[in-house]
This record gives sequence, C-alpha cells and structure tokens, in this order.
Amino acid sequence: MNIILLGPPGAGKGTQAHRMVEHHGMRQLSTGDMLRAAVKAQTPVGQKAKAVMDRGELVSDDIVSELIDAELTALAPETGVIFDGYPRTQAQAEQLDGLLAKHGRCLTRVIELGVDEDALVERITGRFSCAECGTLYHDMANPPKTDGVCDQCGSTEFKRRPDDNEETVRTRMQEYRAKTQPILPHYEAQDLVARVDGMASIEDVSHAIDALLT
Ligand code: ADP
Ligand code: ADP
Ligand code: ZN
Repeated sequence: MNIILLGPPGAGKGTQAHRMVEHHGMRQLSTGDMLRAAVKAQTPVGQKAKAVMDRGELVSDDIVSELIDAELTALAPETGVIFDGYPRTQAQAEQLDGLLAKHGRCLTRVIELGVDEDALVERITGRFSCAECGTLYHDMANPPKTDGVCDQCGSTEFKRRPDDNEETVRTRMQEYRAKTQPILPHYEAQDLVARVDGMASIEDVSHAIDALLT
C-alpha cells in the first residue's frame, strides 16, 4: 500500500499517519519531519530550509523529492508507505510519479482530509508533541491522559513548533490553497482520490481511513 495524505496544515495528517503506522505496519514519510530533523542537525539542506519554513513558505521541490528518494531507496519494497505532506506542488506530484516508477511502487489512494479553516488555526496553535517519541497532542482536543506525561513513552518533555503561530499558519494555508489543492485533479484523473471529513473526532477519522484501506 502506498497512500498520500493530503490536507491543509493542522488537518490531522501526522496524527492519522501515526495511527496507520500502528494499525497497518506502514512507514510514515513526512517531509516536514525530515526537514525539521535537517534543521536541527544543521545540515546544508536544513540551513537552506530554515528561514523558508519559519515564514510558512514551501521549500524547493528538488530538496523534498531528494529526501523522499533517499527514504524509498532505504526501504524494503514490501513495506507500505504513507506520504505525509508530500507532494505539495504539481512539480512534486510529477517527481513522485517518477520516484514510484523507479522504486517499483504504485499509488493505492490519495486521502484528502477536509477541515474548516477556522478550526485549523485553533488546531495549530494548540499543537504540541512529545520531545522523546514525537506523539502529537493538542491542548484542548487531545491532551495526554496524565497532565505533563506522554501516553506512549512516559517522557515529561514536550515541544512546540516555531512555525505554529497564527501569522505563519495563514501563509501556510495560502500556500496549500494556491499550490497543493491544484494537484488534486492529477490524482482524480486516475480515480485515486477519497475525501474524509477531518472535522470528525480523531477516532472517527481513523475508522473512515481504515475503511478505505481494506
Ligand atoms: P503541517 O503539518 O502543518 O502540514 P509540515 O510539517 O508538513 O506542516 O511542513 C512544515 C513546513 O515544512 C512547511 O510549511 C514547508 O515550509 C516545509 N515543507 C514540508 N513538506 C514540504 C514539501 N513537500 N514541499 C515544500 N515544503 C515542505
Ligand atoms: P497535520 O499533520 O495535518 O498538520 P496534525 O496531525 O499535527 O496535523 O494535527 C494538528 C493538531 O490537531 C494536533 O495538535 C492534533 O492533536 C490535533 N488533531 C488532529 N486531528 C484532530 C481531530 N480529528 N480533532 C481534533 N483535533 C485534532
Ligand atoms: Zn512520548
């Protein structure tokens, strides 16, 4: 299985990708996570990407497609992949077609998570994650069961993303509308697109996605 999760910032892509990894033994390939790791490690890619990410704009197509290529090269061919936050432009969609062919993979589904824009700002500004294992939480909608302790690994350290502020979120939404939504017809033409109501609870979204994958 090779799935693309599409949706604006805060739609729930990361949250659902984590669940699919648990339920289906798939591998999450998040270009956002890869870029943040590169920024943290101060690699040449990270040094280039940091300011762009802080503004909420898109990093260059070649950089993200090369990150994906490297991951696919390292992955066993039978391991299913969830593309989380990639592709985000028409050029990336075309690069991904080439990468899938190169690595002998076929797309199973493109799942679009639809969410109200007002709700997105609230989701993004309330988002935080475990500093140890990366589990995603939300101040109101999805806090840890015990205040200040990660459900998954017991860590008491959490972090917030520097780009998760209202101003940057507006730019990220504009980027999504202008550059990412227009790639949907590329996949509609192949009859691959399924829409899931991302405003439902995390559980219900997860069930809707599972139903598409069986
Ligand atoms: P979100 O979870 O809000 O959708 P991501 O973690 O996927 O955000 O991405 C964070 C930032 O990393 C983006 O705003 C952008 O600057 C950069 N980025 C991530 N994926 C891509 C991509 N496929 N193409 C270009 N830029 C990307
Ligand atoms: P994305 O990867 O699309 O940017 P995330 O999965 O990081 O989105 O989710 C953004 C925030 O919203 C997180 O704090 C997460 O806990 C919360 N969240 C995710 N899905 C839902 C949902 N269905 N209902 C309410 N909050 C959600
Ligand atoms: Zn944790």
